[in-house]
Amino acid sequence: MVIDMASRIAFWLGLLALLSGEAQAGLDYTLRLHGDGTELAVHLCAPDGLAAGELRSGDRDSTRWLLAIDGDGSSRPRRSGERIVHSGLSAGQCLRYRVDLRSAGRGDRYGLGWRDDAYAMQRLSDWFWRPQRIPAGTQASVAFPDGWSASLPWTPSDASGRRYRIPDTPRSWEGFSAFGRFEERRLDYPGGRLRVTLLPTTRPIPTPALLRWLDLNTRAVLTSSGRLPLADAQVLVVPLPGVRSPTPWGQVARGGGSALRLFTGLDASEAERNEDWTLSHELSHLFHPYLGDGGRWLSEGLASYYQNVLRARAGILTPERAWSKLDAGFGRGHDERSTRGQRLSEVSAGYRGTMRVYWSGAAYWLEADAALRERHGQSLDAVLERFAERHLPAYQTWSPERFTAELDRLAGTRLFVPMYQRYAADTRFPDLDDTYRRLGIGTGIQRLRSDPNAPAAAIRDAIMARSPDSVRAADAAVAR
Ligand SMILES: [Zn+2]
Repeated sequence: MVIDMASRIAFWLGLLALLSGEAQAGLDYTLRLHGDGTELAVHLCAPDGLAAGELRSGDRDSTRWLLAIDGDGSSRPRRSGERIVHSGLSAGQCLRYRVDLRSAGRGDRYGLGWRDDAYAMQRLSDWFWRPQRIPAGTQASVAFPDGWSASLPWTPSDASGRRYRIPDTPRSWEGFSAFGRFEERRLDYPGGRLRVTLLPTTRPIPTPALLRWLDLNTRAVLTSSGRLPLADAQVLVVPLPGVRSPTPWGQVARGGGSALRLFTGLDASEAERNEDWTLSHELSHLFHPYLGDGGRWLSEGLASYYQNVLRARAGILTPERAWSKLDAGFGRGHDERSTRGQRLSEVSAGYRGTMRVYWSGAAYWLEADAALRERHGQSLDAVLERFAERHLPAYQTWSPERFTAELDRLAGTRLFVPMYQRYAADTRFPDLDDTYRRLGIGTGIQRLRSDPNAPAAAIRDAIMARSPDSVRAADAAVAR
């Protein structure tokens, strides 16, 4: 009787899920390589069945790389415009497709997507065909020959490096993958791990130096709370032979999970690479969820503030140098005239006024951090740690309004939201004169002068100093 009732409830719940268009159970993806890594074969199986529907990759051009599609039973998967449509899978049935990795990799506009017999690097949207929503419990297995590895943003579900859980991030969020003859290394820290891949290139790569660079900057992140804000992040490093710039490009990607992609010049010295701001900037983006285009000034501002604060705490910069770099940034933002008279939120959403967007945002976080410390006995580090504990990783966009309201709730303040409203509506670069004077760093932007007797001089020093907890945690971290 009880069992009968339970199965009836399960039946009705299942029907409800079907009617609401939600896939009911997790899917299983299996990835295999063929033809010396030139082709990727993907099996998409549905242990509990899959209703008729469509798969998309998120990029209308990626049908170019599809070589073949077939499926079990009457699933009849076929291309239709930019979609793969199918007539449904019964429990245990699969559909299969193959992708031309070599052509997709050669389509990379910087010529870095393919190296013969070494690796293929793609966007997920080049090959990962998926339903609109990825059902909970969806997994992937990588079945590659010995000596071949994958770098994927998905969350490893065991220690093998070959099984993953696929989170349901929006299809429009880009992610990156690499498949090839390399080794994915795991660097473990308090709170999380980085899965690091150094892509092979035409020259031998200085592996120990690149790992030291990653470790130095990751330890700088640990000076915030002693822990990484995320349990897992993919790090894909693309070494550039013959390039003098230490890190000409870096980016955070959130499709399929949290990831950093970093391009580093092999002709830069180790000291130049270690001092460069790019890696600490990109790592700082891991403190916040994706905030959308309208929140770009907040997210870029947070990374621009922390890239200097963290490097000072880690001893990469002196505190004086970090203040002067922040001041120089504020000066560049202040001097950008092209967007004056327009609201910061509009400039930010319109991808204009880069310097004003980045450094107005950095001013926001400096002002907030100073106010938290001076008036509330807290710090930005501690509030962001609480946010990370509760909400990261985040697989959906947070509006800047919701993000700042949650920071106020976690801090017990009314600070982040009113400041957010004031900054977003501002048509000029923020006035930092009062903040500068209180901290004793000068009389205003581009008027730096240290004042040991300023009311908040101790706070100025504390912002750039390592907390005892974070020192202990960083020293205890074991990098493997
Ligand atoms: Zn950034």
